[in-house]
Amino acid sequence: MRTPIIAGNWKMYKTMGEATALVNAMKKELGSFDKAEVVVCPSFAALNTVYLLIENSMIKLGAQNLFWEKEGAFTGETSPLMLKDCGCEYVIIGHSERRQYFHETDESVNKKIKMALDVGLIPIVCVGETLAEREASKTKGVIEKQLKGGFNDITKEDMANIVIAYEPIWAIGTGKTASAAQAQEVHKFIREWLTNNFSSDVSDSTRILYGGSVKPENIKELMHEPDIDGGLIGGASLKAESFVAIAKNAVA
Ligand code: PEP
Repeated sequence: MRTPIIAGNWKMYKTMGEATALVNAMKKELGSFDKAEVVVCPSFAALNTVYLLIENSMIKLGAQNLFWEKEGAFTGETSPLMLKDCGCEYVIIGHSERRQYFHETDESVNKKIKMALDVGLIPIVCVGETLAEREASKTKGVIEKQLKGGFNDITKEDMANIVIAYEPIWAIGTGKTASAAQAQEVHKFIREWLTNNFSSDVSDSTRILYGGSVKPENIKELMHEPDIDGGLIGGASLKAESFVAIAKNAVA
């Protein structure tokens, strides 16, 4: 039984004041909801502010990135230990915006996954293809390369602490969602890859989230697919009403 996860990626939005208002509204609307794990991933600057507000609630904290060293002369980077110190349990790794604008590669994703595991953070590892790659029928090849590179030297035991997010780049922030069938096809492919490269236990227990223009209106259909275990939500996580509706509709 895979517990669903609904994770909100706040990207570079929300000052501390705005983050406070958002998380307070979420807490109120979620009430005692516990049918899915709910995770929020604010910017580094708002992490601890948010943590202090959710400390005794069921909402969990994630970061949007980390560096692959614990400390040192790495100006502008954030240590995984500092994320733990802020109260993070999760960390998004390899988001397509990091790959696209900050030149992250499968190799750097791999180093970050290893460091996250080393300090006890659960990586949410993002994979996904561009529209051009999909149109050229390269989707599975692209995903396979990202999985192979990202999970290089990762053990079966490590996989128990890893979440994967399939996020087709053409669906992120565009309003275009992959159809439930399109998403399921790739999720199934990822699960088969996990069977072939780790074990059927790993494949059965790994949570694979879908991300890309998820809204309260489409989450239910996506969640009906057998290999979709939740969502990584961008735009719709910036409003309590839509984010909480997604969490509730996901398990309705
Ligand atoms: C994301 O940023 O991971 C994402 C899926 O964004 P959106 O929901 O806005 O498409």
